[in-house]
Amino acid sequence: MTVLPNFMSATVDEQRLARSHDDLAAFGRASRGGVNRPALSDADIAARQYLIERATAIGCSITIDPLGNLFMSLAGRDRSLAPVLTGSHTDTQPSGGRFDGAYGVLAGLEVLTAIQHAGIRTRRTIETVVWTNEEGYRFAPGCMGSLAFAYPAERERLLAATDSMDMTVGEAVARMRRALSDPPERPLGFPVSVFVEAHIEQGPILEQTGNKIGVVTGIQGKKRFEVTVIGEEAHAGTTPRARRCDALLAAARMVTALERWIWDAEDVARFTVGQFEVQPGSHAVVPGKVIFSIDFRHPDRIFLEEKSSRFLEICEPLAGGCTVSVHEIGFTPPIAFAEQVPQAVQRAAERRCIPWMPLLSGAGHDAQHLATVCPTGMIFVPCEKGVSHNEAENATSSDLATGARVLLDVLLDIANS
Ligand SMILES: [Zn+2]
Repeated sequence: MTVLPNFMSATVDEQRLARSHDDLAAFGRASRGGVNRPALSDADIAARQYLIERATAIGCSITIDPLGNLFMSLAGRDRSLAPVLTGSHTDTQPSGGRFDGAYGVLAGLEVLTAIQHAGIRTRRTIETVVWTNEEGYRFAPGCMGSLAFAYPAERERLLAATDSMDMTVGEAVARMRRALSDPPERPLGFPVSVFVEAHIEQGPILEQTGNKIGVVTGIQGKKRFEVTVIGEEAHAGTTPRARRCDALLAAARMVTALERWIWDAEDVARFTVGQFEVQPGSHAVVPGKVIFSIDFRHPDRIFLEEKSSRFLEICEPLAGGCTVSVHEIGFTPPIAFAEQVPQAVQRAAERRCIPWMPLLSGAGHDAQHLATVCPTGMIFVPCEKGVSHNEAENATSSDLATGARVLLDVLLDIANS
């Protein structure tokens, strides 16, 4: 009889993982079956309390850092080695789904539970982390907790960020720490051997191709701009065409031209104008001012820089007597993950005969900041019709468990190396 390696006895429990998702979705449950759980809100605190109780019950120790990032640690044999980290986030968009972020945390907890139930003691400590404020809608910027972890010098600036009620991140974190009975503090940026984040794909490709695991190779880059078009307010009934400087018509021409400028036959570039503000906003006044946003994403930094360097040049000839200015307000460079984690994910999928494919992440994730401090990777699982940031977001229990099994293998592999 062949003796199976020890870790073969650790087993992911599909039903337990599905119940975890039901449990967590109760905190901040929204009216159409989704979740509204702003970062550091009462619902987020209650969700973290639930996770702490689950983790404590399997012998994990709990720590928290100055940004409120929460760590649930299953101790390894050699405490002098840097731990292996997995996890994601518990905050959601205002009408978010049950799986975005939650899956990465709950898959991490499931893996710790499976390892503990199997009586395995890994060489390195394995920790499941909840990163604070990934979505970035209560406090800006998003991916705040992981950003502070990777760049501790940013700590004071990030703690001073405020929500719409003028509460700072620092105050919200202090409030959460009191509610969670003040877990021991951990510094930002402690050494980490590897970070692995499991996540729903938030796109349709795995479902369309019938693959069950996305081996994520990197995260595309993003540039954000604010474009301001200034015309002249005038009477809608009396001003002839030749006398108008209509900021809205100029802005509309610009949006169309920019979309055409970025257009690529391969459909890799992502161009979105998601905010469009018209002033003064009266039906009887020719618009005097328009401000619109551009969210522009692509995996190639050169493409992002070359295309966006000509935005103003594209807009100016279309201004029709108005003035136009283009301001860059954010840049997240593309990230290519180092080979170690993607290769471990691929090996684990192959060993279990699970159909997999390489994928690039279209969305931003906490993994993009961790990738700057340690070898990092992500495991994507299919989500129904690619729908995410939507209460209808859905994933099957079986696919979630498949991803958690791959995560288990990868973490054991690395934690025992
Ligand atoms: Zn997410």
